[in-house]
Amino acid sequence: QSLMARKPAWLRAKIPGGAAYNEIRNIVSFYHLHTVCESALCPNIGECWGRKTATLMILGDRCTRSCRFCAVTTAKPLGVDPEEPKNVALAIQAMGLKYAVITSVARDDLKDGGADIWAQTIREVRALNPHTKIEVLIPDFRGNRESLRKVLEAKPDVLNHNVETVPRLQKLVRPQARYDRSLEVLRTSAKEGFLTKTGFMLGIGETEKEIENTLLELRQVGVQILTLGQYLRPSKNHLPIDRWVSPEEFQSWKEYGLKIGFSHVESGPLVRSSYHADEHLKQQE
Ligand code: SF4
Ligand code: SF4
Repeated sequence: QSLMARKPAWLRAKIPGGAAYNEIRNIVSFYHLHTVCESALCPNIGECWGRKTATLMILGDRCTRSCRFCAVTTAKPLGVDPEEPKNVALAIQAMGLKYAVITSVARDDLKDGGADIWAQTIREVRALNPHTKIEVLIPDFRGNRESLRKVLEAKPDVLNHNVETVPRLQKLVRPQARYDRSLEVLRTSAKEGFLTKTGFMLGIGETEKEIENTLLELRQVGVQILTLGQYLRPSKNHLPIDRWVSPEEFQSWKEYGLKIGFSHVESGPLVRSSYHADEHLKQQE
């Protein structure tokens, strides 16, 4: 029996299509950009693009890493496109976004991990869209502090970096990353006063105690915004799903997260790092 056939009803998402969806598709291809919505086979694409929100993925669509949950292609990347920062800014303007989420593949082949392009992108987006809030979902830059500093100096509104799973499962889930290194990215960002966000997947094999401890630790380093979602296996070559986490369990983790001091928590089967990313602003308004 295929995985799709066994999927619980609460994971069935809206089918992509419609005018707003097509508009996003056209803008993305016109500016030669990529989206993580497509590259990661995100189940929310129908809903998000229908609301005219998308997450642009910079520095190409080939990743130097091979995280075992991720559908993005692992391959030797192509060269860096110097026009990309400008094109991202133009695309965001064309989409009319009030809240933009930008992410990238990991570029371990580049000395700075792509930090220069990252910083330029933030600056170009801000210059052309002064009222748009910018959330960046960044890689760990292999722990390169100088690279992180470059991104922070460009002053994103929200600094997001995912730990993806609990500490024990890091090696299995993201072999080229390290939990402590990711924690350091979050700690630095929070310490410098940035609104800091992270997230991880449930249903990979983590225990209740591990989830609880991870949340406590993330709070301790100063993370304010949290996302929790169900792991979905993108193909047979990816890690198997350990369990389907019920909407009620997601709800109780949300309550727990708020109780221990996160200011905003998105927690649900279809939640992804960039899902309803602008919601924490509405909450503050
Ligand atoms: Fe794209 Fe994020 Fe929405 Fe998924 S949740 S479709 S990645 S914006
Ligand atoms: Fe996917 Fe991992 Fe590459 Fe990020 S670093 S795009 S999660 S393979």
